Amino acid sequence: DLILVSGASGFIASHTAKQLLQKGYKVRGTVRSEAKGEYLKDLFKGLGEFEYALVDDITKDGVFDEAVRGVDAVAHLASPFYTEGVKDPQELIGPAVKGTTGVLKSIQKNNPGIKRVVITSSVAAIMSTDSRPAPNLYTEDDWNQDSIPHVEKNGTKSTGGHAYQASKTLAEKALWKFIEDEKPSWDAAAINPPLVLGEVIHQVDSPEKLNTSVAYLWQWLSGKKTESDLPGPLGNWVDVKDVAEAHIKALEVEEASGQRFITGAGYLIGQAIVDGIHKRFPDAKNVPVGKPGEYEETTKKMNLFNGDKAKKVLGINYKTLEQSTYETGESLFKKFGH
Ligand code: NDP
Repeated sequence: DLILVSGASGFIASHTAKQLLQKGYKVRGTVRSEAKGEYLKDLFKGLGEFEYALVDDITKDGVFDEAVRGVDAVAHLASPFYTEGVKDPQELIGPAVKGTTGVLKSIQKNNPGIKRVVITSSVAAIMSTDSRPAPNLYTEDDWNQDSIPHVEKNGTKSTGGHAYQASKTLAEKALWKFIEDEKPSWDAAAINPPLVLGEVIHQVDSPEKLNTSVAYLWQWLSGKKTESDLPGPLGNWVDVKDVAEAHIKALEVEEASGQRFITGAGYLIGQAIVDGIHKRFPDAKNVPVGKPGEYEETTKKMNLFNGDKAKKVLGINYKTLEQSTYETGESLFKKFGH
């Protein structure tokens, strides 16, 4: 089978493409430039049949028309992820929503016999940070109630957090609405990860160019955080290879049809991150120590996203934070030094 992976040059999508190739699928990745496409061709050399298609601006009508031709399934991951320096929520919402509806329309137009579409949503489409103060136990039944009204009310004065969360909520809603309205013969699934960490294999030339979630862990690894940042309740996390596998399983497993899946490995706490760094990188410099092993008081006040459904239905066996921190650090220290 040939699978289309949109945004293949990204952190999660590059792992998704790699694992697809390793499982024997053919992969067509969409990228914004030839240079990014060639980087991937090189990266995947010897792994199987990889080709790329140029899709520069996902907000343009019909931009996926050619890319979807001849594929058996689609994994749509391209979407902007940043929360700092957002001038207008529409800069995130536009590509998130039009990217999603655009790929779906192109499928209907040029390849309606496709089997399944999986899109990368987020826990951003699940959590309601204003109306439901932590702690909460969130499941796939929950929807973000706060971010869409926030951006409707505040416009260009919206917070970057709500702008991003609204973009993910609106994009996932657009998927389910498209299916309800158009009743296509194909079906869909959504993957809803919290903060994604892990080995970086996509093209990144400097720490400043890291994707948002890895950039966050890099601050800890590179000694930018201090004792005052501990214990640091930070949300929830998951490893990139588990998220990539979830995308593939969501295309393969029959029961995934019409479902959303939280892929969450549990609490992310600054203290747990630094414990892992000290254990696996004893030479790491300027990394705070805090109170090793003390998590319980912190987690009591935190939201938890229940990742059991992805375990059960998709067979995901979550990596530990220590291992994921190690794999992130290994790949980044190799690129950028200590
Ligand atoms: P990256 O920033 O590494 O990947 C984003 C991808 O989308 C890149 O390939 C990027 O292309 C592409 N893209 C962004 N904006 C546009 C646009 N306007 N037009 C065309 N392509 C665009 O981040 P991730 O891998 O982390 O994100 C992948 C998906 O996962 C996103 O949908 C994100 O919302 C979601 N997600 C991520 C989480 C995380 O913690 N990382 C958590 C939950 C969900 P280019 O390489 O050219 O910039």
